[in-house]
Amino acid sequence: MAEFSIIDQFCRDVGPKHSSTKLDIGDDAAVIRPDQGTELAISVDTMVSGVHFFEDVRPERLAHKILAVNLSDMAAMGARPKWATLALTLPRGDDEWLSSFSDGLKQTANRFDLQLIGGDTSQGPLSLSLTVIGTLPQSKALKRSGAALGDDVYVTSTLGDAALGLALLNGELELGPKNSAHAIDALEVPEPRNEFGQSILDIASSCLDISDGLVGDIAHICDQSAVSIEIDLARLPLSLAYQEYISSNKLDPSSISTLNHALNGGDDYELAFTAAPEKAVTIRRRAEECGVSVTKVGQVIERESRKVYLSRNGRRLEIESTNTKSFEHFS
Ligand code: ADP
Ligand code: MG
Repeated sequence: MAEFSIIDQFCRDVGPKHSSTKLDIGDDAAVIRPDQGTELAISVDTMVSGVHFFEDVRPERLAHKILAVNLSDMAAMGARPKWATLALTLPRGDDEWLSSFSDGLKQTANRFDLQLIGGDTSQGPLSLSLTVIGTLPQSKALKRSGAALGDDVYVTSTLGDAALGLALLNGELELGPKNSAHAIDALEVPEPRNEFGQSILDIASSCLDISDGLVGDIAHICDQSAVSIEIDLARLPLSLAYQEYISSNKLDPSSISTLNHALNGGDDYELAFTAAPEKAVTIRRRAEECGVSVTKVGQVIERESRKVYLSRNGRRLEIESTNTKSFEHFS
């Protein structure tokens, strides 16, 4: 199928048409007119076949994921996602594949109120690059800087499930059917926390999304806020799938290596954020309203040294973030 029919048939009418979109697909560039007093948050994420996903993943799931990883960046900023452009590189114009891919795009774009306003289509090894644009009230963005001494540290939902999903697909472990499905869904169709991210705009002191592992990502908050953070291993939120992984392999539930997927596994797309202790009640209420669980996993403990410490029930363990490993390309 030719480039223009691909664009026409599969990339048009993805997501709602916002009134602030002045030009969308069809011109040399899209034109948007943000409201007075709003700022734009812009981010791009790329997914390459064989690096970020298996070539044979279901196309509607792949479509969801390229949107979800970008939506998650908007969630981390507290921004409201509104527009996206998609650079699509395809090995061939496979009608059936494109049709499922397009259905997946439309479903998720509609659910998150995101309009696809442009992109680029070319032939080559399967790769997707999506730019997302969201709006923010002026000067309100949730940044990685801003964590203060004494703040609580929270994460949404559970950690490590996507890493378990990857291990399952690689044949490195086995779980019962229900927990397997949960872990593989966590990997292939992560749920970005956009509503919750926007609901903590005036509450969180810093925020990011966990894409490369909790410890490595929390270290970014430490760096940019010039603080240290202590994570209590006993508090890490683990799913039923993770609990089955521990019990069926007779692992020591308190050892760091057992918790490795939760501490350092990639692709979680949960939010990690800090907030002053007096915000605790409001945070629980907001989370409940958004239908997501939040767990306090630690505390901002000191200025200057900029390290992540691990503890268990208040006792610090002799290991620092530099000893653990989160995902990095080129390393
Ligand atoms: P150009 O030649 O100026 O790069 P193209 O011919 O590639 O433009 O694209 C024509 C129109 O289709 C443009 O408005 C572009 O934004 C849009 N477009 C191309 N590919 C995609 C895609 N994968 N998803 C959404 N819009 C696309
Ligand atoms: Mg052009």
